[in-house]
Amino acid sequence: MDFLFMDFLNSDWRDWRGTGRSEDRLDRQGWLESFCARWKLEAPLPIDAEARKRLGELREAMRRMIEDLVHDVGYEPADLAVVNQALALAPSHPQLVKGEAVGFHLEQISSVPGWPLVTSQIAASFADFLVHEDIRRLKICDNQDCCWIFYDESRNRVRRWCEDKTCGNLMKVRRFRERQKTRAAAAEDEGKKGK
Ligand SMILES: [Zn+2]
Repeated sequence: MDFLFMDFLNSDWRDWRGTGRSEDRLDRQGWLESFCARWKLEAPLPIDAEARKRLGELREAMRRMIEDLVHDVGYEPADLAVVNQALALAPSHPQLVKGEAVGFHLEQISSVPGWPLVTSQIAASFADFLVHEDIRRLKICDNQDCCWIFYDESRNRVRRWCEDKTCGNLMKVRRFRERQKTRAAAAEDEGKKGK
């Protein structure tokens, strides 16, 4: 399952292979362009400095909240306040719309355009997840070099890596090497005792 806020959070990219490379994709116009296209968001590019700063603050607050949730240590009221400030950027009201064939439906309309609207839509996607989805399925990849945020769809919520093919395999290989090293060290100790 894909969620707008998760895609946004992962704009803070780190190289899962452990090279130490990282990239803030909010500073890449190409990334912002495809992000907006993917989620049908409309905002002017290049992004203005104020909107960029606000997005960065929202991302930090949301990530901290997720880290706190994952580690079950509550949350910082200041982080929640940042999310609520983002929600308040684009006040909306319901509008009655005539359906194409029959009936009517309600749509949430906001008179605020551009980045403030997008920022509040990202916060709304996060808020909606916390209210309606199973928070225990919100995970951070166990590979410390990666820290990708993902939704665990496995039946028993046992997934630890963002991708089995990448981080999962890498971690398996690392564990295997560590076991071998421990075994080799133990064998060496045995050898010394025998002397
Ligand atoms: Zn990962």
